[in-house]
Formats: sequence, C-alpha cells, structure tokens
Amino acid sequence: MPTLNDVASKKLTALQQENRQRRLRDTVRGVGSVIGREDKQLISFTCNDYLGLSQHATVKQAASDAALRYGAGAGASRLVTGNHPPYRELETKLATWKRAESALVFGSGYLANTGIVPALVGKDDLILADKLVHACLIDGARLSGATFQRFRHNDVEDCRKQLEKHRADHRNALIITDEIFSMDGDAAPLAELKAAAEAHDTWLMADGAHALTPSSVPIDVYVGTLSKTLGAYGGFVAGSKLLVEMLTSTARSFIFSTGLPPATVAAANAALSVVLENPTLATAPLIKAKLFTERLGLKPAVAPIVPVILKSEEATLAASALLETQGFAVAAIRPPTVPEGSSRLRFTFTSEHKDKDIIRLADFIKEQGWI
Ligand SMILES: *Cc1c(COP(=O)(O)O)cnc(C)c1O
Repeated sequence: MPTLNDVASKKLTALQQENRQRRLRDTVRGVGSVIGREDKQLISFTCNDYLGLSQHATVKQAASDAALRYGAGAGASRLVTGNHPPYRELETKLATWKRAESALVFGSGYLANTGIVPALVGKDDLILADKLVHACLIDGARLSGATFQRFRHNDVEDCRKQLEKHRADHRNALIITDEIFSMDGDAAPLAELKAAAEAHDTWLMADGAHALTPSSVPIDVYVGTLSKTLGAYGGFVAGSKLLVEMLTSTARSFIFSTGLPPATVAAANAALSVVLENPTLATAPLIKAKLFTERLGLKPAVAPIVPVILKSEEATLAASALLETQGFAVAAIRPPTVPEGSSRLRFTFTSEHKDKDIIRLADFIKEQGWI
C-alpha cells in the first residue's frame, strides 16, 4: 500500500500539470473594495459581500454586542442548547424579506442544500436539476439517493421533456435550479420552471445565494445565504410553515451541527435591517456590473457577476496574474467549479466599487483582446 503522503503527492502533481491546484492567499479585507495581499493593495473583484455590509458600522457593532452578551460560540446544535435569542428575530425578518410564511437558518448555504434535498426526496423520487447548479445542490442530490437527472442550462423545454419521460415512474419530484448562476451571472427562468413544475405535480427549489432582491415567483423551497448580500455567514430556507417544521426535525445538517455563533446571527440580523430600511441599496451592484459590460460592449449584466471565458486553465491563470500586476484581484475559475474548457475570469461587483476603477479595469481587458 502507498503511504498517504505518496497518494497526496501524486494527486497534487496531477493537479499541477492541469493547472488546477488551488492555493490560499493571505488577504486582508477592510472597508471598501481595496484588499491587502502580500504587501500589495489591490482592488478586489472577487468578493460576494455585495453591499459591503460585512464592514458596516452598525453590523459590526451588533456582532460585537452579541458576542459580549451571549458568548463566542453557540454551545451545541440549535435543537439541543443553541437557539440563542438573535435567531428568532432573524428568521422572522428573513421570512418577511423573502415573502414566505417561515424561514430556518442553517450553518451555511452549503449545509442548507446538503441537508434540505435529502429531507425532501429519497430513493423512490426524482430530481431534475439545471446542468449548472451549485456544487452543494449536486452533493445534496447525491446524498438523497433519488434518481438524479440534469436538464440543459436554463432550457425549460428540456426540463419539460424530461418530466414527461421520467415523472410517472417516481413518487415525488423536485426541480432544482440556482436563481442567479454563480459562475455565469445569468438568471433562471423561474416563472417558466414553476409552470413546468406545476404541470407535472413537481416541487420547485431555487437557490438564491446571489439574488440581491426577492423573487416575484412563488418558490416552494427557497434557499439563501447570509454570507453574500448580508455579509455575515450562514444559510437559510424560506417556505411554508410546515416545510420549515419538517426540516427542523429531519434535515441532518441542521440537527447534527452546532448553531452559528451569536455574533454571526446578530450581524446577519443587523445587515438585513439595513437592507430592509434602504430599498435602493441592493440595486447598486448591478449598476456597477452594467457599467463594466457596457464599457466592454458585452450584453448588459443581469446580475453582479460577469464571466470572461478564456477556456484554458493556463490562459486564465496568466490573465489573473497579469491583472494583479495592474492592481486588480480577479479570480481564475477552473474545473471542476466550471465545465471542462470553460475556465474563466469571474468579476464580482459590489456597491463599494468606484466607477473609475471599473473603467480602468474594462479598458485594460479590452487592450488585452480577451473579449
Ligand atoms: C455561495 C453559494 C452557496 C454556498 O453558500 P455558503 O453560505 O457560502 O455555504 C450555495 N449556493 C450558491 C448558488 C452559492 O453561490
């Protein structure tokens, strides 16, 4: 038998040869879009803190107050000991925000999806998922043991065809999609998917991790995160009261994992208050993204995520490194995060970006001929 280090070294060599090894970069974030990395200051286009709320004074104060009042950790699973007071207030507000009867906070968006899908469907059931859904939805689908089919990206016709073909062979069925696709920045046709689901006696689950504003389409199972628009950490589901009650007793990632630290819940709660009190705040990131796409002659952004696809891992890493020499931090996204041959630069826009920085970035990209 090879040693564990032999196995690790072989895997790492293979990843290096494919330009797929990943590395942690020590990074200091602060107020605004500037980050500190290895003695350099960079303007970051890599951060999902869309509204800068992780750095908002009221939000930081709420986190600090909660830590001092309730302690640094939750102590145990929420069901066992950890349902500290800020949870109730946050869940009530989340339900209102997402126009649902009820909401339930999980440890993270990842934990929410891997816990919720297996709580909804099992081996006699069918899952139809968009080809580009987030990895944690795929993991949830696999854990569920349900028959797992994919439909072509944002292709409702393909989804309908598969429902016609497979639905009758299964007890319950669930369509799964991202609301905004995290690596492509496009939006799912939620109204059409909802109609297809209803026509085939199927539930619709949507992951709105990157959605800045609530969807107008009623979603049976809506999943969100506290880590992006709200700048904190954690995940949540919004839906009917009975759905939430069932998940509270059956979602394994909820039951068997410690509650979030009180400071984190209080931060999300304070951030959500800021969002609810300032309805125009959430429009800023998309305006910034549109400035970028307009300057580059791309089709107008529909979400604050814009990919520039360079195909190869090597070209994408080189482009990201070159951008860094110009003072920009931009992530090189490679498989398995995106499909083979579609490595890309992924630009994330927040309310914190300055127009002049976006223009300088777009003009540099144009000069390189990457578009
Ligand atoms: C970020 C993300 C998640 C995971 O959320 P975390 O709270 O970071 O675990 C889930 N789904 C999508 C679409 C995401 O972009």
